[in-house]
Amino acid sequence: MTVAEFTKRICQSLVAISLTLHMVPCAEAQNLTAEQLQAVSLWNQARAEVLNGSYADAEKKLRQADHLYPHMSRIQDLWGLSLVKIGKVEPGLQQLLLATSDPNVSPNAWINLGLAYEAKGDLNKAIEANKKYLAVAPQGPEATRMRAYVAALSSGVKTLGGDSTADYLAQATSPYNMHWQSDKMPIKIYIAPGDGVPGYRPAFERIVKAAMIDWIKASNNSIGCAYQNSPTGADINIRFSNDPAQLSNRAEAGEAKYVGRAPALMHVDVVLLTTVANPEDKVTDNAFSWLAHHELGHALGLVGHSPNTSDVMCFLESQLDRPAQLTERDAKTIQLLYNPK
Ligand SMILES: [Zn+2]
Repeated sequence: MTVAEFTKRICQSLVAISLTLHMVPCAEAQNLTAEQLQAVSLWNQARAEVLNGSYADAEKKLRQADHLYPHMSRIQDLWGLSLVKIGKVEPGLQQLLLATSDPNVSPNAWINLGLAYEAKGDLNKAIEANKKYLAVAPQGPEATRMRAYVAALSSGVKTLGGDSTADYLAQATSPYNMHWQSDKMPIKIYIAPGDGVPGYRPAFERIVKAAMIDWIKASNNSIGCAYQNSPTGADINIRFSNDPAQLSNRAEAGEAKYVGRAPALMHVDVVLLTTVANPEDKVTDNAFSWLAHHELGHALGLVGHSPNTSDVMCFLESQLDRPAQLTERDAKTIQLLYNPK
């Protein structure tokens, strides 16, 4: 085969959460009871916490707010989102179903409902909810991104599930079976400084290095790496960007571009996004950890995706705000790629 140059991406994922901007206009607020006003105040505090990625704190306040002001769809919306993010997917889904039964609910509640269904693994319902957002807000600020996302989910849903084997090597090496050859070890990695990139935090570089350590361990040390201070001669170049227009698909959070001659990888450029489309959202350390694990998996030669939503190399990002962890299947697959039987 000739020199292959192709692109793999992460992978139609939404890091973004969707929030409504204002809960109660001032004039309307004058008619509220003391309890309801307290609930509004809690909602506002919780919203700031959600924007900061503090979902557990937000969830506690919203539970209280729902008690003080029942049947308020904006409380149900944000509460449902917070519940999903801390892993209480089913109760979160129920709140989001309640929220979206209000005809006046913010359109973004439909995106959050889609996220809950995605976390549950019900992608058809996730697609349906995201389409509902597009139906009620065709010109909405998230519309472009949601269209790309619905298209990606719709094609991805066909490949998911029905796979209970111990690894996903076949899918991960399609269409190219390539990896870093032994003469490339240790792999030379350059991480471009992220200072000045909006949304960048120094933690991101540490998260990237920790993700690489996880992959090295998972490979039973078949892989080694060495960081260098200059891009010259680096095998993997990693840089941070806040500009989704630099990626091939606007629905994505990062990508890895390969140059290689099968079975040898020759060079990989990785871009990791520091922000999400909604400027109010924040990429949490947990979300970035998932992104880093996923993109480094691609950079190590897992060019395809796992069809199982629990694996880091699934094309869908975990919607739970938890640190990324390689699964047994992720580990087995990288082992097989570097030590074929
Ligand atoms: Zn991917």
